[in-house]
Amino acid sequence: MQRVCLLGATGSIGRSTLDVLARHPDRFALHAVSAYRNVERMAELCLSHRPQIAVMVDADAAEELRRRLDGQGVEVRSGEQALIDIAADERVDTVMAAIVGAVGLMPTLSAVRAGKRVLLANKEALVMAGQLFMNAVREQGAELLPIDSEHNAIFQCLPAGELRRLGDKGVTRIWLTGSGGPFRERPLDAFDVITPEEAIAHPNWSMGPKISVDSATMMNKGLELIEACWLFDLPQSEIEILLHPQSIIHSMVAYSDGSVLAQMGNPDMRTPIAHALAWPDRIDSGVEPLDLVKVSQLNFEAADEKRFPCLRLARAAITEGGTRPAILNAANEIAVEAFLAGRIAFTRIPQLIEDCMHQTEAHAAESLERILADDAAARDCVRRAIDGGRV
Ligand code: NDP
Ligand code: MG
Repeated sequence: MQRVCLLGATGSIGRSTLDVLARHPDRFALHAVSAYRNVERMAELCLSHRPQIAVMVDADAAEELRRRLDGQGVEVRSGEQALIDIAADERVDTVMAAIVGAVGLMPTLSAVRAGKRVLLANKEALVMAGQLFMNAVREQGAELLPIDSEHNAIFQCLPAGELRRLGDKGVTRIWLTGSGGPFRERPLDAFDVITPEEAIAHPNWSMGPKISVDSATMMNKGLELIEACWLFDLPQSEIEILLHPQSIIHSMVAYSDGSVLAQMGNPDMRTPIAHALAWPDRIDSGVEPLDLVKVSQLNFEAADEKRFPCLRLARAAITEGGTRPAILNAANEIAVEAFLAGRIAFTRIPQLIEDCMHQTEAHAAESLERILADDAAARDCVRRAIDGGRV
């Protein structure tokens, strides 16, 4: 029996994870769940999935949840420390890291440091603190399994075992595929008037609002490029981004003998979630079998960095290294938040990030304190640019 802690239980990945867990009560027990302040959803899932512990980071939300779950046998905790504690709880074997954004870093690191099996959806953690994170994985003997569909696909197409020195195993290149989001074909002169509703309406995937906007700017693919560099110990030059509008191939690995291995499936996050939960076994995920006759065509095209400047910014950030990717990520979080709040135009997102990258000094990413300080400086820089009216 694997005992699971689900961080970000009320989100899109959280929901898909609960669905897979509920299909296998013989294999998995839900020990702890967390959310920020969505009490409604949290109360509902606590009653249907019966975890031992529920954390609401927000204190008022925790109070309200306690009231609603009175007498139900669920212990309710609150605060950020509670996230760190449940991720490292000795009664937990597996931690699903599905909090969105930089706030997911500390609890995810806590799981790694406690040597858990860590299912990583929270890509921002790896983008911010890749070197420290991967060092901790090795030092603590944690088992890191990627949930991001592309990285999970690559993992499945690689030879089993150690994920370093892939060149020695004949790997020559990795293709990260991406649908291109809702604006792959939109005329560039109509980008200025893109609304949040249009941006979060992804053609193939149903996801939380932040990653949906990231998919529309393709910063998501940029963050994934950085994520792949750390997970698979590869330089960015060996990772290519390829647009594939159908989202059936989730990524590919090329080998020196000319073989290219692809992982395919319907675009449904329950596949990578079930894969990582059961690895190295295979279990039912509830995902519809792939009908290739119905799909009928798989198309590919090069990614255009003019249309999607965030791709160029992400490559520049990982090439420079140090805290630059953390600065990129923090600037993106603030810009996306402002766009979703209707405060800035869609086209301002990459501009604000680029300006912030010029204005914020990066350092060697030698400590968490350094990373968090540069993250905070980048957030301030973008907030000032927005509040200063230069929008
Ligand atoms: P959602 O926005 O749907 O869910 C986010 C979750 O994080 C919610 O449970 C939310 O709680 C919680 N949360 C938000 N802010 C905080 C905070 N300050 N402190 C603690 N918890 C917080 O996001 P997704 O599920 O879409 O994405 C989660 C992560 O997975 C992201 O890093 C994303 O990049 C990654 N990912 C997602 C994919 C997808 O298909 N959705 C695919 C690949 C990766 P509350 O509801 O209370 O606000
Ligand atoms: Mg992805």
